[in-house]
Amino acid sequence: MTDQRRRLILPGQYGPDFDDGGPLLVVEAREFFTARPMHRAKAHLWLSALRHRVQALRDAGEGDRVEHVQVETLKEALVGRSDLEVVDPPSRTLRAQVRHWGKGTEVLPSRGFVTDEDEFAEWAAQGTGRFRMEAFYERVRKREGWLMHSDKPVGGKFSLDDQNRESPPKGATTLGLPEPWWPEEDEVDEEVRRDLDRWEHDELARFVGADDRRRFAVTPEEAHHALDDFVRTRLNDFGPFEDATLTNDWTMAHSLLSVPMNLGVLDPRDAIEAALVAHRDDDAPLSSVEGFVRQIAGWRDYVWHLYWWFGDDYGASENALDAHERLPRWWQELDASDIDAACLRTAIEGLHDHGWLHHIQRLMVLGNFALQRGYDPVHLTEWFTDVFVDGTDWVMPANIIGMSQHADGGMVATKPYASGGRYIDRMSDHCGGCRYDPTKRVGEDACPFTAGYWAFLARTEPALRHNNRMARPLQQMRKLSDLDEVIAQEARRGTP
Ligand code: SF4
Repeated sequence: MTDQRRRLILPGQYGPDFDDGGPLLVVEAREFFTARPMHRAKAHLWLSALRHRVQALRDAGEGDRVEHVQVETLKEALVGRSDLEVVDPPSRTLRAQVRHWGKGTEVLPSRGFVTDEDEFAEWAAQGTGRFRMEAFYERVRKREGWLMHSDKPVGGKFSLDDQNRESPPKGATTLGLPEPWWPEEDEVDEEVRRDLDRWEHDELARFVGADDRRRFAVTPEEAHHALDDFVRTRLNDFGPFEDATLTNDWTMAHSLLSVPMNLGVLDPRDAIEAALVAHRDDDAPLSSVEGFVRQIAGWRDYVWHLYWWFGDDYGASENALDAHERLPRWWQELDASDIDAACLRTAIEGLHDHGWLHHIQRLMVLGNFALQRGYDPVHLTEWFTDVFVDGTDWVMPANIIGMSQHADGGMVATKPYASGGRYIDRMSDHCGGCRYDPTKRVGEDACPFTAGYWAFLARTEPALRHNNRMARPLQQMRKLSDLDEVIAQEARRGTP
């Protein structure tokens, strides 16, 4: 054992899949939590996962192979050591630090995703530089044989996305599903709380949002409870209502598994396998199972690979829609007290309370609003990384700069994800109780999303006029007789 290298364990590597049984160095560096203001629930979850991993090894009688260091910076833990190895970490900053400070550290291939980095690079090198998730996903499905009849997709199509867009049930305030399984806090969480309280009190860290109880799995056992519960009680409704949102149902039929997956405590293949078994043995509907597999083996893996493939400059150099607005204070501090717009208020309140929103609130409400208002895409990406409990350096760039903000000019998505209030009205119950009217674009009750949509098109028309998919909306915008009024009104609008 003396000659064996010690495995460095970094954020995102808190499960047994990152441990091959040798000695470990688990680094708890305060800088992981303090570089920028972070959601308190996120700090809690990530610190709790780290300490639960150490505790689990001690409880299993393996404490003698774990060195758990509490330091200010990762540099402190690395400098002067030549006995380390590491599974290549899931962040550009961490990779650079390991290589710079941990001279001689042996770097092993990354783990925790369905497709490995070499295979993606080989596929991407064959392409034209414009990547589409659909092509990547088809390749993965064929390779793995998931939902396939020989070389044909079950159901006739690889993607059943067109069956994943139902409006919420009429008149419903919730989907009426059982409450999700929640983890129980233990003495590790108590200690985490005490430390986070102290950091805040001593001004060593700045947090936003609430941390009233831990809601997400941070250990492999908890992750498997959460997965089983999802498959039993919510998977069937996941597909049809994937794009819907209801004010009084913050989880809808979503799995809540992005946190344990991004912490490294749930193997994405295990999640996929559980859904496939439910389809095979329990008739879980294909549209739900396929949608779930696509989210994980398709989209999640795809944004991970794009993070590395696009490189350092992605985001820093692209700002195709010339968006430079600062994020307002109420947005940064998750303060919904002055927000009248019901959809936006629900999203900011939910984010404050849970550090999590499902993807359609992220995209259709927050991302859409930021796009319309021209928020700086790099700052917006940092904000999403910091205030979402599943936010990581790798997951947000392609999602925010590419998919949500179109700041990369179309490398990820063929058109901006912009929509007016009518679409929000169709996919939610928010508009009925809102002081704005989704059909109005001028006047006291003009919907900030509807008016904002036209003002956005007017502002970005020079950048979008050559995009075929934007031809129709731009044509409609040019015909509006009250466009100048709409633009002036939106320029004056404060917190909506
Ligand atoms: Fe949101 Fe507009 Fe609907 Fe109000 S009317 S909930 S602001 S989309």
